[in-house]
Amino acid sequence: MANKAPSVLIIYTGGTIGMITNPETGSYKPFDFEHISKQIPALQSFGYNLKTISFKNPIDSADLKPNTWSEIATILRKNHNEFDGFVILHGTDTMAYTASALSYMLQDFFKPVIITGSQLPVEMLRTDGKENLITAIEIAGAQKNNTALVPEVCIYFDNKLFRGNRTTKKNAEYFDAFDSPNYPILAEAGININYFEKNIKYPDYNKIPTIHTKIDTNVALLKMYPGISKEFVTSVFNTQGLKAVLMETFGSGNAIMDDWFLEIIKHTDKSGIIILNITQCLGGTVVPGKYETGKKIIDAGVISGYDMTTEAAITKLMYLLGRELSNEEIKSYLQESIAGELSKTNV
Ligand code: ASP
Repeated sequence: MANKAPSVLIIYTGGTIGMITNPETGSYKPFDFEHISKQIPALQSFGYNLKTISFKNPIDSADLKPNTWSEIATILRKNHNEFDGFVILHGTDTMAYTASALSYMLQDFFKPVIITGSQLPVEMLRTDGKENLITAIEIAGAQKNNTALVPEVCIYFDNKLFRGNRTTKKNAEYFDAFDSPNYPILAEAGININYFEKNIKYPDYNKIPTIHTKIDTNVALLKMYPGISKEFVTSVFNTQGLKAVLMETFGSGNAIMDDWFLEIIKHTDKSGIIILNITQCLGGTVVPGKYETGKKIIDAGVISGYDMTTEAAITKLMYLLGRELSNEEIKSYLQESIAGELSKTNV
């Protein structure tokens, strides 16, 4: 019997890929999916069964709010059993945040969710959008022994398939917009698409796919820099409703050692606000206690986020706070991998 053609649902949320130039201002603005499909006639004759859902008002992802993650997750869950895979068209500015958030929100999801977009609108001759979209569709439908080859939330960009929650946008100019500094790529497209199966995470197929759509945004991001003032740090920690602070520290997790700073940390920890530590370096990990400057903040109550990216860490905090778990449970999940977003191997 001939194998059934794979079925893929494309969800168009917006982003440069579908943008057109506003003749009055000269800026790009989001446009509808019809526009994309007209620019890529190959979509009509693709060997897969393709269906499209388009956001009524496509967005520039710089203006995205976390309820969009919940909206996407709900569409994915609703269509999980109908399709072999999913492609999400999205702006590159916050693509890594969406990929990270979805990786937590979709649990035991058996189908590939491939997020892509482009640096140049699809109507431009040199666009990267056509290749990105066509290969993303092929990956979303790729199967082995009737199961998905890559059942993960991924970003496909410039010939590389990344684990979504390991990515960061590194370039606003060239086509290689994304990097995965602490985890190897899952596949690479050349003449063939080469899948690196040992890097791929597989779900427990005995479980039932579920989604968690509640997100709590009572978090703050604090980046260390020499000269950071007591007034500024105090104002961040005094934010009304604050439940967690993500600190981007130096090197392997080091911060200033001023008494006022350590007092704020101790007091914050005692008051039940979680403080998570990641490095502001592009690659590498927090090594708890390697230097005295790192040990002091651990002793004051800060916990280690190891090698998580900022995008993976901040969305993980929002997701875990949304689950309404106890602080102890949240702290324990933060220091373990729940969707392949963290490793402790280099510590
Ligand atoms: N501002 C755009 C967006 O993130 C940039 C892009 O798509 O590359 O929606």
